[in-house]
Amino acid sequence: MNFDYDVVIVGAGPVGSTISYYLAQNGLNVAVVEKKKQIGYPLQCAGILSKHIFENNELPEEVILNSVKGAFLHTKNHILNVEKQENVAYVIDRSGYDQYLLNRAIENGVKLINHKVIDVNAEKGITYFSNNEFITSKIIVACDGYNSKISSIIGNAQQNFPASQMLVSIDGEFMNSFRKSNKTLDDYVDTYLFEYILPGFLWIIPLKNNQYRVGLFSNHSHKQQNEFLINFLNENFNYEIIEKYKGFIPIYNNKNKLVKNRVLLIGDAASQVKPTSGGGLLIAFDSCKIASKYITEAIKKDNIKILSGYQEEFIKKYSKEFNYQFKVQNTLNLLNDKDLDYLFEKLRENECEKIISEYGDMDNQSKLVKEFIKRGLIFKIIPTFLFKKVANIFGFR
Ligand SMILES: Cc1cc2nc3c(=O)[nH]c(=O)nc-3n(C[C@H](O)[C@H](O)[C@H](O)COP(=O)(O)OP(=O)(O)OC[C@H]3O[C@@H](n4cnc5c(N)ncnc54)[C@H](O)[C@@H]3O)c2cc1C
Repeated sequence: MNFDYDVVIVGAGPVGSTISYYLAQNGLNVAVVEKKKQIGYPLQCAGILSKHIFENNELPEEVILNSVKGAFLHTKNHILNVEKQENVAYVIDRSGYDQYLLNRAIENGVKLINHKVIDVNAEKGITYFSNNEFITSKIIVACDGYNSKISSIIGNAQQNFPASQMLVSIDGEFMNSFRKSNKTLDDYVDTYLFEYILPGFLWIIPLKNNQYRVGLFSNHSHKQQNEFLINFLNENFNYEIIEKYKGFIPIYNNKNKLVKNRVLLIGDAASQVKPTSGGGLLIAFDSCKIASKYITEAIKKDNIKILSGYQEEFIKKYSKEFNYQFKVQNTLNLLNDKDLDYLFEKLRENECEKIISEYGDMDNQSKLVKEFIKRGLIFKIIPTFLFKKVANIFGFR
């Protein structure tokens, strides 16, 4: 059978552009199909990437807007400050990054096709466009984001959290009083746990020049989130809104298939997103590396059964980490604002700021959870009446 391409990638977001670049570098004939005319817009990202990004992808200097070394963690009445000596994460110009990754793919031989994909035939490798045209390929990679058409075509159920964000300018004085600290403004992110928005949280990410991305994800509608953000800003700051954005964060579902026949899913289309924070890019970039290995081998050996190795390797590498994150999320979900205050009070009493500073890692959150378990801290920081429920969540006897 003749195919137009070795691989067709659907979606030229950061993940589609990255996998297409890897595959072109491996000598494959690759096309990426994108429905948007302008890549990277509208912005749907807080743009925070841990320093481990360099192990997973390039990050050009020109898209780095700021770097941070720690966080102020808030509940209604308590604040913890955790930090490392060195920078732990970068704040990026996400739209610029998406464009950089696509240009890199095109410069390396990937063909960009501007069309909306409306259907695929997973058995025959056919990708159909909205103008009734189609192309064929040995393998189709779905990188079509949170509401992936292709994921639903292959039978997956998808669920997402709405997320809303604003770019605001906030006077430094207000930021200092909000943190009850005079530490350098641009060096820290702020996160806020409120009963109302659990299992999500609110974030404040510093750019430079008094500008911040203030956003949240939760179970509420975008309209409710917008109202909540405005109230939050009114209560705490003198501010000016520069832009508003909204998006969705996929909820990881371990029952979903990552591979079916000639189709393979990566990134938000595969809900490869950290359950606690909603961060997706580092895991998805790592998945691009894993997937490109199996895709290249499947094409060289003309055997699409090899693709199943991608799902197996992904699960082996990430399912334990995701499970720990779900346990943390399920525990937080039990708490109301008073309990959250209690939790933070106990964290401070037990000198946990030091432990979080030492063991906290955005990408490997289980390391900190295991340290808490090892030190017997879990039952020192949650209210007594929740012991049984939390013991069940963590599987303690
Ligand atoms: C508010 C918010 C804040 C976030 N903050 C962070 C963060 O700080 N750090 C982090 O790591 N992650 C963050 N994320 C998650 C991160 O943005 C996603 O994980 C990432 O965008 C996934 O990339 P992707 O390429 O899989 O999907 P997308 O970026 O959604 O790209 C999908 C592409 O596919 C195209 N497409 C879709 N359907 C079709 C079709 N039918 N035909 C053709 N093209 C199609 C779309 O136009 C788009 O270009 C955040 C998400 C949100 C919503």
